[in-house]
Amino acid sequence: MKILVVNCGSSSLKYQLFDMTDESVLAKGLVERIGIEGARIKHTKTGMDAIIKNTEIPNHKIAFKVVVEALLDGSHGVLKSLDELSAVGHRVVHAGEKYAGSVTITQDVIDALEECVPLAPLHNPANLMGIYAVTEALPKIPQVGVFDTAFHQTMPGCAYMYGVPYHYYEKYKVRRYGFHGTSHFYVSRRAAEILQKPIESLNIVTCHMGNGSSIAAVKGGKSVDTSMGFSPLPGVIMGTRSGDVDPLLISYLSEQEGIDNKAMSHVLNKESGLLGISGVSSDLRDVEEAADAGNHRARLAEEMLCYGVKKYIGSYAAAMGGMDVLVFTAGIGENSARTREAICSGLEFLGVKLDKEKNNVRGKERIISTEDSTVKVLVVPTDEELVIARDTKRIALDRN
Ligand code: ADP
Repeated sequence: MKILVVNCGSSSLKYQLFDMTDESVLAKGLVERIGIEGARIKHTKTGMDAIIKNTEIPNHKIAFKVVVEALLDGSHGVLKSLDELSAVGHRVVHAGEKYAGSVTITQDVIDALEECVPLAPLHNPANLMGIYAVTEALPKIPQVGVFDTAFHQTMPGCAYMYGVPYHYYEKYKVRRYGFHGTSHFYVSRRAAEILQKPIESLNIVTCHMGNGSSIAAVKGGKSVDTSMGFSPLPGVIMGTRSGDVDPLLISYLSEQEGIDNKAMSHVLNKESGLLGISGVSSDLRDVEEAADAGNHRARLAEEMLCYGVKKYIGSYAAAMGGMDVLVFTAGIGENSARTREAICSGLEFLGVKLDKEKNNVRGKERIISTEDSTVKVLVVPTDEELVIARDTKRIALDRN
């Protein structure tokens, strides 16, 4: 059974083709710069060098066509015919309260996801473009949506409600949803496997730190709290997102600047975070480099990120009545040893003792705490695609 996993961003389309008989990846790739100059596909057949092809890619439909061509290509392709493909799984960011698990994509599901666009304006439109592109190219193939919000549907009301009048929740479903659920699910389970402990017995804090970052409290395998909320904006500062702010800042700044809600939302989503504080970049590597060169705003941005994550870890340890495991994942969590060190420093009172040598690792599964650390600290590279492929297989099989 071969399953294609598609993850669309506003100008990108990532894909992985799995052979689910052994969960091996047959090919993967990335279409970049969709709709802008310099578009290209980077395609890798497992065991071969990547090939890069520059071509005009005005939209996601053409992007998917280019992916299909690469998968069927005589030399670096992996499929003889599209009939070999059993199903396509999509990463979809926001499914509201409607879906607590993955589902087969139908017109009703598409309508529900369209309704969620205002909740995730940076992501849902792109995810939907991916679904439309696949539907047009492969109208008969089953498609499954795997939602970033689904894993967090186990949060208790005290964690997901906001202190606004209750009727707003009833009327508008205003609540904390949380995101990156697929990643928090995967790394928490993987950490338990690595430690050879039943997940039901563990209190785990998972730190997904990439361009977008969220922290989650995973108690007995279930999400009980997470730092993102109604939208992917709150929590710790991110590449360009502000993270938590006093909500009254928004009306105050809108008035002072004479800008409307849309413009304010752009400021909070696109001009804030590491970029807004440092004035240098949204990319932590650039911020670290600038901080090392003496840029005090870059240093401040780095400190704000680490301080914010540290506070969430402490609060989630309190929420769960203790912490057994701390996991770092995604671009920053997997690669930035200095960020992990800064976050863990000062958490000794909770039983966190980082081994500086073991912490010197990038993108590999590793326990990075000392032998005598009561909290086990791990780097676990995330694998959202594998979770999506597994869910797609399960749901597509159920359907047959
Ligand atoms: P996305 O949320 O878009 O999937 P990623 O998970 O790829 O993002 O994470 C991107 C972030 O990871 C960027 O801020 C980048 O600077 C950071 N990153 C990647 N490699 C390193 C590294 N070696 N050191 C520090 N930060 C890194």
